[in-house]
Amino acid sequence: MLNFELYNPTNLIFGKGQIEKLSALVPKNTKILLAYGGGSIFKNGIHEQVLKNLEGFEIVEFGGIEPNPHFETLMKAVEIMRNENIGFILAVGGGSVIDGVKFISAAVKFEGNPMEILHKRMQIKENAIPFGTVLTLPATGSEMNSGAVVTIQSTQEKLAFGGSAMFPKFSICDPTVIESLPKRQIQNGVVDAFTHVMEQYLTYPHDAILQDRIAESVLQTLAEIGPEVVENPTDYKLASNFMWSCTMALNGLLNKGVPVDWATHMIGHELTALYGIDHARTLAIIGPNLYRTMFETKKEKLAQYGERVWHVSGNTIDEKANQAIEKTVEFFHKMGMNTKLSEYTENYEDTAAFIVNRFSERGWKGLGEKQNITLEKVKEIVELSY
Ligand code: NAP
Ligand code: FE
Repeated sequence: MLNFELYNPTNLIFGKGQIEKLSALVPKNTKILLAYGGGSIFKNGIHEQVLKNLEGFEIVEFGGIEPNPHFETLMKAVEIMRNENIGFILAVGGGSVIDGVKFISAAVKFEGNPMEILHKRMQIKENAIPFGTVLTLPATGSEMNSGAVVTIQSTQEKLAFGGSAMFPKFSICDPTVIESLPKRQIQNGVVDAFTHVMEQYLTYPHDAILQDRIAESVLQTLAEIGPEVVENPTDYKLASNFMWSCTMALNGLLNKGVPVDWATHMIGHELTALYGIDHARTLAIIGPNLYRTMFETKKEKLAQYGERVWHVSGNTIDEKANQAIEKTVEFFHKMGMNTKLSEYTENYEDTAAFIVNRFSERGWKGLGEKQNITLEKVKEIVELSY
């Protein structure tokens, strides 16, 4: 097992009706920025619940944080934070609102142009404004991790940053919020969380036995309940297991002591930046083709995954590994994903060259757990995805 440090200060408050605890969680005598997205919280009543539980607090509202939050929008909130001397932020939404709030939190006291946080992929360890979240969409794990992804609209770049100051102080996770989610977003949540686990699991055989077993249990749970929760979002057993799986997939537990990949996300982010394809859908396009292209380095782990998660029954490692990839694609299709880029855009032909050029400009030479996903391999993966 590799050495590791485990630090996670987020107070996770999970379950039906837990929003009642909100007033005890936010700081007293501090102006609060209530940040949200495009307005779903008005339709499903969550905005009203939040206000009811924050009676007596001084609140400034900031709405309009878009999916794949834009730097340009977030900077407007930064301006308000500075002018109004706001000391706490409450993010009410999915990964986009929470990630957006992480950026606002880091940018308010940042000296210089906050765009540097993104371009330099900074690790923010201090001088951040504290924030909490009310999660409305299980998917990203952002409610219990210290990472975030922000899009710079002017340059069509989607970049990640993070740091120990980027953990939410608390996150209220009520599984019943999924009742108002469109099917497409539930599908996205399952596939995003599934891929988060894969990125931290599907590498090469190692000796961290427990980590593998935990990862496999999250994958199995998502595989089992994913298709069902899309059809029955009011079933609390399904909703609660879905929500907790998403948090567990990326709250920093699974990557402890093991190698990690993350190349599917790196490449997928480019597809969102270029074509606006939903985050999870980019992962369903890239993931299986990455496993195909990197077959030789990943096949042993693919075979283990195939046996333990999908119960495949091949005779050789190669057979089992191939079946595992096919099972994954089948699952993504069952979850409503298209797995080819050409199903989303007609102008896909220069995509591989564009992405490779971008990675090269950023000085990225190799991605993945062995840093052996070279730019040549990235090109192959993207072309295979057309
Ligand atoms: P999202 O972009 O936050 O939300 C997607 C859509 O769902 C929005 O239109 C939103 O509407 C709507 N929605 C949210 N909750 C709803 C509810 N309860 N009922 C009805 N509609 C609802 O989706 P997401 O998948 O959670 O976040 C994706 C972003 O997170 C991407 O930018 C991705 O790159 C990033 N990400 C972050 C991490 C991380 O660790 N930080 C990991 C993976 C991905 P409103 O805007 O109207 O609310
Ligand atoms: Fe993701």
